[in-house]
Amino acid sequence: MSGSAIKRHRTVGVRVGQVMVGGDAPVVVQSMTNTDTADIAATVNQVADLARAGSELVRITVNSEEAARAVPAIREGLDARGVTVPLVGDFHFNGHRLLAQYPECAQALAKYRINPGNVGSGEKRDAQFASMIETAIANDKAVRIGVNWGSLDKGLVAQMMDENARMAQPLDADQMMREVMVASALQSAARAEQIGLGRDRIILSCKMSRVQDLIGVYRALAGRCDHALHLGLTEAGMGSKGIVASTAALSVLLQEGIGDTIRISLTPEPGGDRTQEVRVGQEILQSMGLRAFMPMVIACPGCGRTTSTYFQQLAQDIQSYLREQMPMWRKQYPGVEEMDVAVMGCVVNGPGESKHANIGISLPGTGEHPAAPVYVDGKKTVTLKGDNIAAEFQAIVDDYVRSHYGDGVSSA
Ligand code: SF4
Repeated sequence: MSGSAIKRHRTVGVRVGQVMVGGDAPVVVQSMTNTDTADIAATVNQVADLARAGSELVRITVNSEEAARAVPAIREGLDARGVTVPLVGDFHFNGHRLLAQYPECAQALAKYRINPGNVGSGEKRDAQFASMIETAIANDKAVRIGVNWGSLDKGLVAQMMDENARMAQPLDADQMMREVMVASALQSAARAEQIGLGRDRIILSCKMSRVQDLIGVYRALAGRCDHALHLGLTEAGMGSKGIVASTAALSVLLQEGIGDTIRISLTPEPGGDRTQEVRVGQEILQSMGLRAFMPMVIACPGCGRTTSTYFQQLAQDIQSYLREQMPMWRKQYPGVEEMDVAVMGCVVNGPGESKHANIGISLPGTGEHPAAPVYVDGKKTVTLKGDNIAAEFQAIVDDYVRSHYGDGVSSA
């Protein structure tokens, strides 16, 4: 099923800086830094890296006075480098104070993330929540009301548990947890609207760490409101576990038209690249046919017919090359993100798959004649031989991009 066949759940569009979330806007990919926000240079560098990788919003934690003081300088540093990505401030516990005490921080951010479970308790909670919402209204900023099951509003949990216990058919613990999550988000959104924040300034999220819980809670949320929704599996984990769990949860919801912006909460390996979470988010959306971000490399898995690693190397080199070119190609060659490049290990499926791609190459498998037929737009154009196949194939890709996507003309 192509992405265009997915009927999106109707939500109210929210402007976050220059980026639209919800409404008719495509699903937005966002990310979060893991630098100390008070370290201005490190944070500017990482936000710039994430933006360069394609993150359309970047969240930074604002957890201290030092961090709040740093935010305007981070914005200026990014602007000076021509990085216009909107910044989202992540606030907990002391957000009301930081936003009130550091008006330049409140102004420099495009959106505030408020966790209703972490804004205080009792009357203080209401006043502190109201203070943050009033700051958003005064500065014309968007707000994400971000409920997280690791930090649920304890008062609300106790109240709803009591009510549930008195019911003739009480909900089980998992159902109850989901109910509390949804209630926390919707009650907080209603309160923000009462204070005066427009519905077109509110995004909701209810993050959980188990796939089935996340699917259940977002289905319930989408069924009960038209707020723009931020999707993400919280604490997804490291490596393939985090990628698979996030993909499983988000794919089900996106297929049902639920979700206006996504963040993949991967734990980077020590010294790992933070931009991986952006790439995974993009790849989920592109694999589902919802958006195109970069040319797709279609590569066969290899088998006993490919005894050398040459074909894996070529597939990886082409993938890396395309990724490196994209920041420039995106501006220069609109539509190039729709291009498919097939790199196949032998002639069993190679020519067939190559014909379906914009450009495809079938490398010689074991015992095959040492020649690599290349297909362009379904037709065999050349057979590459010798030691220079990789460079010659890359040149063919370059020529194709220039001739098909140049001058703002897209053939896609
Ligand atoms: S295309 Fe050839 S090398 Fe690749 S998996 Fe199929 S049979 Fe194996």
